[in-house]
Amino acid sequence: MSMPPIIPHPSPNHGPRRIDGPPDMLILHYTGMRDGASALARMCDPESQVSAHYMVEEDGRVFQLVADDRRAWHAGASFWAGETDINSRSIGIELVNPGHEWGYRPFPEAQMRALAGLCSHLLTLYPIPAHHVLGHSDIAPSRKQDPGELFDWLGLAMAGIGLWPDPRPADGMAWEKGEIALLLQKFGYPLAADGISWAEHHAHGKSWDESAEAALRAFQRHWVPASLGKGIDRDSVAALRALVRDSG
Ligand SMILES: [Zn+2]
Repeated sequence: MSMPPIIPHPSPNHGPRRIDGPPDMLILHYTGMRDGASALARMCDPESQVSAHYMVEEDGRVFQLVADDRRAWHAGASFWAGETDINSRSIGIELVNPGHEWGYRPFPEAQMRALAGLCSHLLTLYPIPAHHVLGHSDIAPSRKQDPGELFDWLGLAMAGIGLWPDPRPADGMAWEKGEIALLLQKFGYPLAADGISWAEHHAHGKSWDESAEAALRAFQRHWVPASLGKGIDRDSVAALRALVRDSG
């Protein structure tokens, strides 16, 4: 897999990273606009206050908007495994796609090939563990759906980028809702936005809520897209138990 050529297209929308050390998360997005030119223009408009480090066009062209050592503004209010300043510790990559609002469609092969080349290169530069390669919907499940259920996370994982579950036969066996909420939170998803830990909710007999539902949907979009919208099913449970075991 080769590193695609990079087209510089500087954006003014960035600031200093607020943590020491190199970035250790990779966050993938879709642009969610009519076309790539509009997205590029928006991310370079100081009024918009948004940006990303890179944008990958559907034809495979890769634009760099913000230098890796700067804090780009792509994550917004977000959370993963206790961390809330995701922008300070991540590289953000936007994939051109109209998204759920403007006509969501598959990501073309040329785009995925360029993305895989870019990600592989970034993984050689920075200590980004496989369980820190995430979608925007993973870190903001109540607000975001990108890059969405048509994105080929399996293909990326097969190229050595990100996690993919390897369930054992028993992983899909009996479960109850409260356990699934606990596992989603343990894996990294934001749950119990009221500040009460999910374990505490569980102890008081609460087993599920809107934040758990949102996390489940985000989880399915990323790791079990065929189960999206089916609620807690056997395949989702098996994938979640396997991932929590293998990433812990
Ligand atoms: Zn996004």
